[in-house]
Amino acid sequence: QDKVAVVGAGVIGLSTAVCIAESIPSCAVTVLAEHFTPDTTSDVAAGILLPHPFPETPLHKQRCWFKDTFDHLLSICNSTDAAEAGVFLLSGWQVFQETPSTKDPYWSTVVLGFHMMTDAELQRFPKYKFGQSFTTIKCECSKYLLWLEKRLKNAGGQLHTEKITGFEQLTSSYDIIVNCSGLGSRDLADDQSLYPVRGQILRVHAPWLKHFIRDGNGHTYIFPGIHSVTLGGTRQKHNWEMSVDEADSSGIFERCCELEPSLKKSQVCSKLVGLRPTRNSLRLEREFFVHGNRQVPIIHNYGHGGGGISIHWGTALEATQLVKESINWRNPTSKL
Ligand code: FAD
Repeated sequence: QDKVAVVGAGVIGLSTAVCIAESIPSCAVTVLAEHFTPDTTSDVAAGILLPHPFPETPLHKQRCWFKDTFDHLLSICNSTDAAEAGVFLLSGWQVFQETPSTKDPYWSTVVLGFHMMTDAELQRFPKYKFGQSFTTIKCECSKYLLWLEKRLKNAGGQLHTEKITGFEQLTSSYDIIVNCSGLGSRDLADDQSLYPVRGQILRVHAPWLKHFIRDGNGHTYIFPGIHSVTLGGTRQKHNWEMSVDEADSSGIFERCCELEPSLKKSQVCSKLVGLRPTRNSLRLEREFFVHGNRQVPIIHNYGHGGGGISIHWGTALEATQLVKESINWRNPTSKL
């Protein structure tokens, strides 16, 4: 049996652990993390499937990660597990004050029913010139992460709370390490190209809202969910502040009320902050960690920025392929 340690229990760590445990039964998978749900960045995310741009990654690759994730979650939506997993279809509009240079983006053929907004649809948004209407998926991590934990345990995986201060801590007990520690990789993998983009959101009670609205500039959004509506947001680069900023809260509320005036009658239930683990391209590759006379493969899968929920299954599949290659490297007679 190959012992695999997955560091991190956000959406990236848990989905990668599930993917490995279910597709390589010879692996014993243990997830080690300092924090589990509800205390990860993934728990703060609105969880809408809409890609975040990675300037240094080819578009065909970004499209493939997004499509693999969309199709995977769509099959959960269509199953009896949908409610427990917190995954459901959501329709709405992305509106732009200026017509964007690319009117139909690369993901337009992945989401459902994509079309340019008609004049009648745009009438609702007098300050906006152009819009896209489509149905996507919302994946609520407060439920989805618990569901992934259950799936992992059913596949024989284990969960341990532990802060890892260096990979050498793991090399004597594990054959392969998978690093999904998000922003934690700044220290753990000594990656100074990784930085936080601070996001603050409000969750409000507004059960009459059934459609999402997103300003194409990415700063203002309204995403209805199972128990509340998420209002956002902020995108503050290199800002590590985890406490709620009241000026940010009132700015978010005002901007969202401009887009959707009925929100003025909503009640704020909670205010949350998360730090998006950001790089120019996410890191998905294998390296070898040498400790004493042991050489242990490490598969890195981190740096998903503002779009980790949108591509998590695609990157988990690719990381799992690298685990298979590492098993073949350790044991050339195995044919995974
Ligand atoms: P995390 O969820 O941060 O998990 C990291 C894990 O690693 C944690 O378990 C942590 O404890 C562990 N860890 C770190 N260091 C160590 C260590 N040294 N030892 C042990 N464990 C360690 N994305 C979308 O696709 N759609 C959205 O609508 C969306 N909305 C967002 C809104 C906001 C306000 C924010 C902040 C983000 C949003 N995102 C969204 C982005 C998304 O949340 C992230 O891309 C995603 O959560 C990253 O997941 P992760 O598993 O890499 O990181």
